[in-house]
Amino acid sequence: MGPMLVMKFGGTSVGSGERILRVAEIALAERERGPVMVTSAMSGVTDALLALAESALRGDQVDCVERLAVLEARHNEAAQVIDPGGDWRDLAAQFAGLRQEIAAATDGRGVWEIRDGIAAYGERLAVVLVARAISTCAARILDSTGWYATEGASGIVQPLLATDDHFGEATPDLAASRSLAREAHENAGKHGAILVAPGFIGRTMEGRTTTLGRGGSDYAATLIAAALDADACWIYTDVDGVFTADPRVVPAAQALPVVAFAAAGRLALCGAKVLHPRSVAPAARAGFELRVKNTFHPEREGTLLVASSDTTRGMPLAVAGRKKLAAIGLHGPGLMEILNLFARLCQTLAEADVEIVLAAQPVPGHDPQVIIDAARCDVARVALEREFAREIALGRVETVHARDNLALCTVVGDALPPGMLSQAQRALAQERITPLAQSAAPEALTFIVTAAQVDRALRRLHQEIILPALSEVQRRHRRPYAPGQWAAGGRAGQRRKQTLPQH
Ligand code: ADP
Ligand code: ASP
Ligand code: MG
Repeated sequence: MGPMLVMKFGGTSVGSGERILRVAEIALAERERGPVMVTSAMSGVTDALLALAESALRGDQVDCVERLAVLEARHNEAAQVIDPGGDWRDLAAQFAGLRQEIAAATDGRGVWEIRDGIAAYGERLAVVLVARAISTCAARILDSTGWYATEGASGIVQPLLATDDHFGEATPDLAASRSLAREAHENAGKHGAILVAPGFIGRTMEGRTTTLGRGGSDYAATLIAAALDADACWIYTDVDGVFTADPRVVPAAQALPVVAFAAAGRLALCGAKVLHPRSVAPAARAGFELRVKNTFHPEREGTLLVASSDTTRGMPLAVAGRKKLAAIGLHGPGLMEILNLFARLCQTLAEADVEIVLAAQPVPGHDPQVIIDAARCDVARVALEREFAREIALGRVETVHARDNLALCTVVGDALPPGMLSQAQRALAQERITPLAQSAAPEALTFIVTAAQVDRALRRLHQEIILPALSEVQRRHRRPYAPGQWAAGGRAGQRRKQTLPQH
């Protein structure tokens, strides 16, 4: 296999027929690099499918029919832009599959499996449109087609990732995904075609459909890139790259030229939606070039993600906010008498499938408290009340207390220097914000604030801490190339040294 570039397009990038044609042109422009395309669902379609799934689970036929009609109209409209008057039986096959999935929604399977089964059609529909766009654009400039793998003779688009059966947020099986992806890639090659793969979705060993969790197409793309031993994976989205803050919240935010994998992963976990939190892991492991680029300005460099870089070392890089969080913990006079209290609290939450975003325990053994997704607060409370029922009866635990409307506000950096915490605290004080909890590490400063404060906190921290550091990052980025400056792993690291001297 020659060099290979995996190109992932997000929901806005494939949001209409015109945009899908544009995406096909972007991929064809890179045809020397052996492109493989990974697509998300058209923007808003996954949300619409999840709403459809809820109607199907309720058995509300009328609502299902209406929602399906809206989805069909949107995709058919895009189809007519891409290939007017073309034969769209392949698109109709996906809708037939979706209808079957809806009809099967009350067959007694778990709700998460039913949601995944329905949500997966967003990516399948987009694959069919993108593959046809390749064929119609290519017909004008060169002889190429788009090709995708199907589930047997059904014509239904097949996922290229194998996963476990944790529906709603499945974990990939790397070895099995490798054979699935390679087989599809070889078959596309036999047709002389560009492989178009669905993001977000996977299948279990038994062929049941799973998803990787919301925003999971980025992760699917890096997993497919790793499975195919690609040299590069470019994530195309609707902004210029990884910014110093969400540009929708902080208008002064700017794109970063380069970010370390670890910092980008932390940024995503702390709420920066630009990349799925797990998506950097396959790139960090395999060492291929990972870049975030703008579909609407493909000529721009975007942000390059690397194992580590002198350009960013010692620098605060970006701020991120994560909303819709809650604090939950225990309160009572006898907490000190309970052995392994914090471990029991965490284990209870883990068993109830409640993810702990952050531990926020002020003093060892004292009123343990953790930060969780607010949507899981009721589940968490019930689980803790059950686990500590005896201690509650004995009066050792007085209450399981919960507080929602909280947010995480984080300054992410690369080996942050000491002194940064007090600088950040001063910035927050200027906004009269006193965090409810805070922690500092060389990788990040985190503050728990109220939902009403977080945007203001982000703008102020960005102004006082990020912008001054950004000019230094840009200055280092522009300086002449010094041998050994890059410390990326693997083959791609080697190649980058040769091809990207300006970094
Ligand atoms: P896609 O559909 O292409 O995956 P997403 O909506 O998932 O796109 O992610 C892109 C959006 O992420 C941007 O439009 C931007 O508003 C938001 N975002 C949040 N934080 C950042 C950040 N630090 N850098 C860039 N974009 C960010
Ligand atoms: N379409 C999926 C979602 O909206 C996956 C993705 O776009 O990354 O969550
Ligand atoms: Mg996304």
